[in-house]
Amino acid sequence: MESCMKRGNMETLRDYCVEEGFAITVISADNQRFTATCAAECCDWRVHASKLADGRTWAIKKIWPDKHSCRGWTSNNPICTVKWAANKLMEDITSNPEIKGKERNGLLFKKYGLYMKKSSLYNLKNFIGVDLALKKVWPTAKRRYCCRHLSRNIKKAFPGPLMYILSWRACNATNPFTFKKAMERLRMREKNKS
Ligand SMILES: [Zn+2]
Repeated sequence: MESCMKRGNMETLRDYCVEEGFAITVISADNQRFTATCAAECCDWRVHASKLADGRTWAIKKIWPDKHSCRGWTSNNPICTVKWAANKLMEDITSNPEIKGKERNGLLFKKYGLYMKKSSLYNLKNFIGVDLALKKVWPTAKRRYCCRHLSRNIKKAFPGPLMYILSWRACNATNPFTFKKAMERLRMREKNKS
C-alpha cells in the first residue's frame, strides 16, 4: 500500500479502501498530515499518512493494527460516492452509453467488489449523462461556476445584505484589484463571524 500511495495521492487511499471493502472516517487532515480510522465502530484500524519532502507525494507512515477487527463492507460501501463511481466507470460508459444500471453495478463489482444502491445508480446515470452531453455539444468548452448559484448559497450561509453585495462585487469584478478587494472583505467578515 505504501508504494501505491507514493505513486498516487489521497484518491489512491480511497480506491484502496473500496477494494479492501471498508470505509474510513477522517480524524484529522491538513496539507501535511492525514489520519483516518475504519468507519466501523467496532474496529480500531487506523492509518496515518504524511506528505514527503517533495511537497507533493503522500506516504503511509503507520497502519495499526495490521488487520481490521470488523468484517468490512460487502456492498454499498459509503465511500463509493456517485462522483467516485463516475470517475471509475467514465471510460466504460463513454464507450457504451447505453449500458444499463445493472451492468454498471456488475462492472463495479467485477473491478472493486462492491455494489451501489439503486438511488445512487440513478444519480450516477444523471451525473455521467450531463458530463457526456456537455462534452459532446461543447467539446472545447470550459466549465465554470454559476455566480447566481454561489451567491444564493452565500446568502443562505451568511444572512444579511453585506456578504451578498460583496460576493456580487467579486463576481462582477472586471479587474484583479476589485476582485481581490472584495474577496478580502468577504474573508474578513467571515472571520469576524466565526
Ligand atoms: Zn475495520
